[in-house]
Amino acid sequence: MDASAITTYQMLIDGQWVDSCASEWIDVENPAKKTVFARVPRARAADVNLAVAAAGRAFKGWKNTSAADRGRMLHKIADSLEQNKEKLARLISLENGNALRTQSRGEAELTANIMRYIAGLARELKGKSTYLSAENLDYTRREPYGVVGAVVPWNAPLLLACLKIGPAIMTGNTIVLKASEEAPLAVLEFGRICNEHLPPGVVNVLSGTGLECGAPLVEHPDVPKVSFTGSTAVGRSILAAASNRIAAVTLELGGKSAQIVFPDVDLDYTTDGVMTAMRFSRQGQSCTAGSRLFVHESIADKFLDMLTTKLKKMRVGDPLDEANDAGSVVNAKQFERVSAYIREAIECRPSSLILGGLPPATGPLSEGYFFEPTVFLNLPPEARMTHEEVFGPVLSVTTWRTEEDVVARANDSNYGLAAFIWSRAGAPALRMAHAIEAGWVMVNQGGGQQIGHSYGGIKHSGLGREFSLEGMIESYTEVKQISVNLGDHGFPRL
Ligand code: NAD
Repeated sequence: MDASAITTYQMLIDGQWVDSCASEWIDVENPAKKTVFARVPRARAADVNLAVAAAGRAFKGWKNTSAADRGRMLHKIADSLEQNKEKLARLISLENGNALRTQSRGEAELTANIMRYIAGLARELKGKSTYLSAENLDYTRREPYGVVGAVVPWNAPLLLACLKIGPAIMTGNTIVLKASEEAPLAVLEFGRICNEHLPPGVVNVLSGTGLECGAPLVEHPDVPKVSFTGSTAVGRSILAAASNRIAAVTLELGGKSAQIVFPDVDLDYTTDGVMTAMRFSRQGQSCTAGSRLFVHESIADKFLDMLTTKLKKMRVGDPLDEANDAGSVVNAKQFERVSAYIREAIECRPSSLILGGLPPATGPLSEGYFFEPTVFLNLPPEARMTHEEVFGPVLSVTTWRTEEDVVARANDSNYGLAAFIWSRAGAPALRMAHAIEAGWVMVNQGGGQQIGHSYGGIKHSGLGREFSLEGMIESYTEVKQISVNLGDHGFPRL
């Protein structure tokens, strides 16, 4: 390993760029090449304490800034995100393997747009007044919690960090955000942009592992609000820890989303849409990936023929190469995990693998953590892949005959994040959209999250909503009721 090729990053506490208290580091690997190219501080509880204390001091002033000032500062952050979007997109591709053309550029662009949207919400923190009598004034205020502790994953690091930082600070909170140890660089760079336009301590960004840095942050007694995006297993432990000290929690967790294809669809349009919904060009590393596909039995052969023909044409390879549609998965751990799911499914008899399979062991794709798009048909229900989140480019397909049966099978999941219905007929599609248990149901579209949507999961996929004005207010403010007696209390009126 050539040490000179490794860039050293610092983390952001109280407006300063610092190493960790213990001067320890975490290597950041380029998953497309399996080489270390950067290192970041390895924060632990001592660093968390410093960051939370800084955010607590900053809160005293920040909570009283005017709406206009907050809006102005967030607009400047949005400007800077826009100016730096290519640099940010390349960093994301380097650290998490997402293809630059199809994924990271879009993520950087959307992040700037979301910050712009949030900047425009400055004057939307509205309370309500209740009429009781001429002698009473009863009204509510939306007040910030204080210090928000936020933890994000690696699959869309910049976007997900923005969905925490923007709404938290717009509503008057300060924040300590822990980046994922797998993809901390774009988030640290985002911290630099925020810090250029905000008072010190309003936004603090730490790099560290989940147990050493994430856990002390979400368990910190001076953090009244925790906002987490990541796996359901970790989300569950965070919810349990928060319950001890009655902290407020927002959770955006995993998914195993269903796609249901009716017999009347246009095959060309819908096969394209199904590929998008499965997030094949993000290696399936999306919480909303439609990884359980139900195709009506009357069109299954034709549909799967067209789908697999198109998937074979997808170009997988170096994420920075503009010609490639998909890059690599994020790290060795994820590579082994996805391989294990595929290996187990291949061993099921009769064989149900219809495309792809285990990762290439030779050739250029073996130099990184690459998979080719993989499809299984009619796996037995005991195969883990049929109900567990794989987070890889692996689609599990079955056929259906009646609406009642397919709705029951689609809802037979602990998860409830997203779902996709494909049909030309409006009424059946909407009937099904209403019957499906998910926080976000798309009809005839494979994606297209819009700013202003109320986004979030039900069942084991999460608690609370993000992406919208309502999500911001509900997630990051508490309601205070003020009751005033306007009577003269025995004093003569003037
Ligand atoms: P993960 O749960 O392993 O880690 C997420 C973050 O939590 C990381 O920063 C990690 O360091 C931290 N962490 C781990 N253990 C912790 C602990 N005990 N206490 C505090 N923090 C801890 O998830 P991941 O592998 O980084 O990301 C993939 C998962 O995220 C998938 O399940 C995916 O569905 C989910 N996800 C959900 C959404 C959504 O909006 N619902 C969006 C993106 C990803």
